[in-house]
Amino acid sequence: MLRFVESALLPFQRVMSVAPAVWNSMEWRQHAACTDVDVNLFFPIGVTGPAVEQIAKAKAVCRGCSARECCLEFALVTHQDYGVWGGATEDERRIMRRQRRAAARAAKLLAG
Ligand code: SF4
Repeated sequence: MLRFVESALLPFQRVMSVAPAVWNSMEWRQHAACTDVDVNLFFPIGVTGPAVEQIAKAKAVCRGCSARECCLEFALVTHQDYGVWGGATEDERRIMRRQRRAAARAAKLLAG
């Protein structure tokens, strides 16, 4: 399961290059594809049963969103604990944050 989730995260790895000045501005919100979508779609209750389809629908909206990278970066940096942001669920973002921390620790060790 974890391996599946991690492989599903590969498309998000380029998000690591989004600069703070970009994700931290309000401008990306103007390009959000979810502006006219019921916000509840992005906040499923749980991750099983009906929530599975709801998450898939939310991710489908995110796939067509030009603000996706900034949205995901915002959610990662500001520790949004719930919902689908930037096409990623809270569990997927938790894995991403863990990967970033591990990469930062490795970089620090390599730097001496
Ligand atoms: S990536 Fe998804 S949640 Fe984020 S702004 Fe776009 S549609 Fe909305």
